[in-house]
Amino acid sequence: MGTYALPARKQPGDRTLRCLNCFKRLEIPPAAKIFTCPKCGVEYEIGRRAGQAKILGTVHYFDD
Ligand SMILES: [Zn+2]
Repeated sequence: MGTYALPARKQPGDRTLRCLNCFKRLEIPPAAKIFTCPKCGVEYEIGRRAGQAKILGTVHYFDD
């Protein structure tokens, strides 16, 4: 099903995301719906897909 250039690595229960603003690795608690980056303070709306945390959008973002 589809061709991927990179081999698919299995990471069951991967709960880490990268902050879109400062690229810090964020560990998302399993039940979190909102997560604030401890480094830059951007708030993310968190969703789940196939057990993996995903950033749905930004709740609060500092423009400049
Ligand atoms: Zn950040």
